[in-house]
Amino acid sequence: MKYKIFILGPQGSGKGTQAELLSEKLNVPAISLGQILRDEVNKKSKIGLQIEKEMENGELVANSIVHELAKKRVEQNDCKNGFIFDGFPRSLIQAKFFETVAEPTHVLEIWISDKEAIRRISQRRVCKKCGESYHLEYKPPKIAGVCDKCGGKLEIRDDDTPEGIRHRLKIYHDETQEVLDYYQGKGLLIKINGEQSIEKVRKELFEKLSL
Ligand code: AMP
Repeated sequence: MKYKIFILGPQGSGKGTQAELLSEKLNVPAISLGQILRDEVNKKSKIGLQIEKEMENGELVANSIVHELAKKRVEQNDCKNGFIFDGFPRSLIQAKFFETVAEPTHVLEIWISDKEAIRRISQRRVCKKCGESYHLEYKPPKIAGVCDKCGGKLEIRDDDTPEGIRHRLKIYHDETQEVLDYYQGKGLLIKINGEQSIEKVRKELFEKLSL
């Protein structure tokens, strides 16, 4: 089976962590669109300079940019046997655009309450260099403030302010919920309880995918 998976969920639901676990299991790449966009900002590329403000304010980046980057990424050779998208599509327009590129086989929703999302994000730290994400309590680095993977410095993400989180949650409820409803209608949506330990979420997710 060629798995073409979208993982969606509110900020802090652990979708990036689960995408990585699933990627190891299925041997297909986990793609974080948020990370691709942050890399553009860090590189100060033409796109990066255009999107910097939107990213910092927790707004969705323009569809024209997101569509192009998502399409370009799945057309790379490592996606020929499938892919896992984390945080894409975030609106119905993006979902419908992507149908011209590839149809998903599964859409996973890792759900948590807004209260839990805010609690978790306040404890999130990310590596400025490679983008690896940590949680001070649930997924702490081996050495405080240092990335296990690349030795980079761990920081609070620029958009992880209390207002930034609240704004992104609102966008999630207003726009991404429509994507979930759309795929539920197509019978592709699988809901997973994200308010459990990383291992329990992984287990539920693998079971629901019959892995
Ligand atoms: P994330 O790392 O998934 O939390 O995404 C961080 C930020 O990247 C979001 O707040 C948006 O500004 C931008 N972003 C990520 N994915 C998308 C998308 N599918 N469409 C538009 N903007 C996005």
